Amino acid sequence: KVKAVVMDEKEMDLTIRRIAHEVLEKLGGTDEAVLVGIQRRGVYLSHRIRDVIKSSGYKELPCGELDITFYRDDLSLMADHPMVHSTTMPVDITGKDIVLVDDVLFTGRTVRAALDALMDMGRPRRVLLAVLVDRGHRELPIHPDVVGRVVPTSRDEVVEVYVRELDDKDGIVIAEK
Ligand code: 5GP
Ligand code: MG
Repeated sequence: KVKAVVMDEKEMDLTIRRIAHEVLEKLGGTDEAVLVGIQRRGVYLSHRIRDVIKSSGYKELPCGELDITFYRDDLSLMADHPMVHSTTMPVDITGKDIVLVDDVLFTGRTVRAALDALMDMGRPRRVLLAVLVDRGHRELPIHPDVVGRVVPTSRDEVVEVYVRELDDKDGIVIAEK
């Protein structure tokens, strides 16, 4: 059940453009930059950021993908552990400026798993984190460098992010779980 609309299609487009420009500003140069999208929607967002950066006159940045899913160990009292499943990285990330891109930042555990996976692949010069929505409830000391919108949520709410590539529309709403 939808409780509130956070962004319509137009606002989401503007926000992604701003994120792309903030990423450019923070990078200070695109020579060594690599975009890395997390899971499904983070991947599409990373492609949109790449396209905005390219249409602003910069080079087309390489885009990698990390597929991270939650693995529940039912035999222990431990919570869900995010595990990296599959990875596509078009270039050697050593010495590179990585921009991790995801749709929603929540506990931070997915980003932690993504950082682990990146460190296993090489030694990036630095890693920036760009997210479309920060919904709070962090359980680890992880903070985004670039944020589309801070959306305070309760734990029984979920932020639904629609991207036209998967959902036939763009937009963000808060829904009851
Ligand atoms: P975290 O690992 O920070 O707890 O959760 C972040 C990951 O789970 C992201 O990959 C994000 O896609 C997904 N996620 C967590 N909460 C939400 C939410 O409310 N809405 C959506 N769309 N994804 C979420
Ligand atoms: Mg996700």
